[in-house]
Amino acid sequence: MVVLILLNTYPLLVSQDLVFHSKESALASSTKVLESALTGLEELTEENVGKAMERLDQLNVSRVLVTDLDGQVLYDSRETENARGMYVFYTEIVQALRGNDAFFCRYDGQAFVSRAASPVVFRSRVVGAVYAYEYDTEQATLLENLQGNLMKISAVVAVLVVLLSMLLSHNMTQRIRTLLQAIQNVREGSYSTRAQVNGTDEIAQIATEFNRMSDRLQKTEDARRRFVSDASHELKTPLAGIRLLTDSILQTEHMEESMVREFVLDIGHEAQRLSRISEDLLRLSRLDSDQAERAYPVRMEPVLKRVVRMLQMVAQKQEISLTYEADERAMVLATEDDMHQVLYNLIENGIKYSAAGGVVHTQLCVEDNEVVARVNDNGIGIPEEDRQHIFERFYRVDKMRSREIGGTGLGLSIVRDTVENRGGQITVEPRSDGPGTVFTVRLPLMEGGEIA
Ligand code: ADP
Repeated sequence: MVVLILLNTYPLLVSQDLVFHSKESALASSTKVLESALTGLEELTEENVGKAMERLDQLNVSRVLVTDLDGQVLYDSRETENARGMYVFYTEIVQALRGNDAFFCRYDGQAFVSRAASPVVFRSRVVGAVYAYEYDTEQATLLENLQGNLMKISAVVAVLVVLLSMLLSHNMTQRIRTLLQAIQNVREGSYSTRAQVNGTDEIAQIATEFNRMSDRLQKTEDARRRFVSDASHELKTPLAGIRLLTDSILQTEHMEESMVREFVLDIGHEAQRLSRISEDLLRLSRLDSDQAERAYPVRMEPVLKRVVRMLQMVAQKQEISLTYEADERAMVLATEDDMHQVLYNLIENGIKYSAAGGVVHTQLCVEDNEVVARVNDNGIGIPEEDRQHIFERFYRVDKMRSREIGGTGLGLSIVRDTVENRGGQITVEPRSDGPGTVFTVRLPLMEGGEIA
């Protein structure tokens, strides 16, 4: 609107101004010509003025008046309304008689009306005035045409702008509505909904980001469902065992005491399993909720020593030897409990999944600003297709074997989440020199911290 209003006013004002200026100079030169024709006349009379005017070429003005000092008209070029002999008191003439040049111009919508007057001077004495008047419709028509054209152009531009805005806003709202619909669907739980928005602009980018977010939501939701169903399944098995055992004891009359003891022992085992699972679940939910304990510098060597000491008995029972080498500089920002858990789970797995005569070797070293812990075993190894899944919750390569030896299927998930919480990462690969597995944990090296 502002542009259109400017377009419709500014050029017109400027052209009017230009016409005024050209009129002023044109009329000024006309009055100069008249004036010079009359110079040298000591006194102006109808006669000498008439003569002087006859000698003059046709001037390009509508009317010329010459008056004497009193304002009485001595000459009028307009024959139809001849004012000769009359006294005129046009403002311009009055000013000219006072010795000043005067000019006035106005545009009345149909014509440019301009008037100019100059004094006629004889020896520094004003003896009369010349007056020129012009009524110009030609320039006015040009200006009117210009105005008309500008109006037409503005109207076309306005219509185009309105149409274009409507089209754009319609297109925009349509796309936003699609996106909104998808957002509502996802909010209501239909995580598989995706927003179909074409293009590369910001709305399309929002849609892409929204789709990615929905992907994540869907994955998280799937994982949550799977986790809940796996967890309840895991809890159900020992509970069912306990019920079966208690029922057997209750329903069998005169059961031998040794038998009862055996059953109660089994119940105890199942209860132990339940408490292991619930402990692991609690630990995982703590890791999930990001309520990690405040980290402090932890020296890894003493932690590793303690873990090896704790597992030595178990290893010996299975005729597996536990060895380690440790770099004293290995220090990380974590908690002792975290690091204990990580090393314990990895070494315990090494023992669990190795046969008698095996060796589980742990190497703790510092490499390029990282503390690296490698746990090697020469046990049964992990098939390639399972390797990418073993960090998932409740994933076991051999369910039966894991259960038999007291595994919950949560150990490696806990290890991975703990390591990642402390800014590190864990990888697994098969041993290069025979059967077995190598787990490698990398954590940022903590240098020169206070030892807790
Ligand atoms: P679990 O309690 O069953 O040991 P984990 O999460 O610790 O659960 O391990 C997941 C699975 O990965 C195990 O069931 C086992 O099949 C496999 N696994 C883990 N560590 C080893 C290893 N050192 N050698 C062979 N298999 C392993």
